[in-house]
Amino acid sequence: MLPEKSEVVVIGGGIVGVAIAHELAKRGIDVTVLEKRFIGSGSTFRCGTGIRQQFNDEANVRVMKRSVELWEKYSREYNFSFSQTGYLFLLYDEGEVETFKRNIKIQNKFGVPTRLITPEEAKEIVPLLDISEVIAASWNPTDGKADPFEATTAFAIKAKEYGAKLLEYTEVKGFIIENGEIKGVKTNRGIIKTGIVVNATNAWAKLINAMAGIRLKIPIEPYKHQAVITQPIKRGTINPMVISFKYGHAYLTQTFHGGIIGGIGYEVGPTYDLTPTYEFLREVSYYFTKIIPALKNLLILRTWAGYYAKTPDSNPAIGKIDELSDYYIAAGFSGHGFMMAPAVGEMIADLITRGKTNLPIEWYDPYRFERGELRTAALQMG
Ligand SMILES: Cc1cc2nc3c(=O)[nH]c(=O)nc-3n(C[C@H](O)[C@H](O)[C@H](O)COP(=O)(O)OP(=O)(O)OC[C@H]3O[C@@H](n4cnc5c(N)ncnc54)[C@H](O)[C@@H]3O)c2cc1C
Repeated sequence: MLPEKSEVVVIGGGIVGVAIAHELAKRGIDVTVLEKRFIGSGSTFRCGTGIRQQFNDEANVRVMKRSVELWEKYSREYNFSFSQTGYLFLLYDEGEVETFKRNIKIQNKFGVPTRLITPEEAKEIVPLLDISEVIAASWNPTDGKADPFEATTAFAIKAKEYGAKLLEYTEVKGFIIENGEIKGVKTNRGIIKTGIVVNATNAWAKLINAMAGIRLKIPIEPYKHQAVITQPIKRGTINPMVISFKYGHAYLTQTFHGGIIGGIGYEVGPTYDLTPTYEFLREVSYYFTKIIPALKNLLILRTWAGYYAKTPDSNPAIGKIDELSDYYIAAGFSGHGFMMAPAVGEMIADLITRGKTNLPIEWYDPYRFERGELRTAALQMG
């Protein structure tokens, strides 16, 4: 049964919706998550596990520093796997080195301990790397990875313990709006009364905005990105997330099960199609084996696809939309929403409970597109 009413309704039960509900419930707010399939069934369970603070602007560095603090805290308290095995960006020419030196300066200024290291040092971290063309690397040992299934489930269980309701197979179909105020949400299972809604549907966000009659232009489009997993190999073989922009914008690391997981920049869209392609299989094999030649000997077990919900500047839209009270959005994560989720939970909970937040949320202002104030594009992997 649907509850008759809820103080806050979060639409979307991915890591972002669940993290928001968790934070609100922890603060004693009556919150309900509506998820059209099952918890985590969107991009979240298809994601590449990576959590990094190596961004190229103040806001993302600060938000991700906070997010990593929360990943550390909650993985300890709720007992799910999060490991700080670092992110290693391989650099191949002076131009790349200059860009990363600038990024490292911003990161260091806000307390993220990234440093430029030599190819030999990079090889000490990942002995199987081919460093013949690498001239330097950007290394932050406090970046890391978490299992998306485990993490989302852990946050969901805790959110419930704090009193949140998480309703699966409950699809939002429309809203009840009177004089610019939300009165309720219509679902395939009936109506739930509420005054506060959070759109956390990422790749589907524009459909929910349309249902709510939002006129503000918030361009978020679904793009197909693919990933691969190999047979498991000895634990500890590739600890950090290894990135190579030169070789196809590739990212790869080893999962807790031992398989090598990763993807490349190869992008199709805008589309809601999710069929993996042969071309991706060929390209990912080529690029991965350029970075780590030993991968030539590994079997590929499976490929799959998921959405990057992309905005024009690769930064999400996070904030309150004033034309409808009370409507919030946290969507358009452009391929790095898993890592941001704990901090986004905090930002949205702050907005709802205190009307403001100490994190630099203005960077993600949903109004920036209409105003033509695009941000510096966030570093996007994959
Ligand atoms: C191949 C790949 C690799 C990635 N790698 C990384 C990475 O290494 N690190 C990282 O941080 N991010 C990564 N990402 C991005 C990451 O997966 C997303 O940014 C993140 O999962 C977004 O979470 P979300 O909760 O906003 O969205 P989702 O997980 O997509 O959740 C949205 C939910 O809304 C539900 N929904 C939609 N419409 C309705 C409706 N009408 N009613 C009710 N429910 C509805 C959906 O069913 C879905 O469960 C990757 C993505 C892909 C595809």
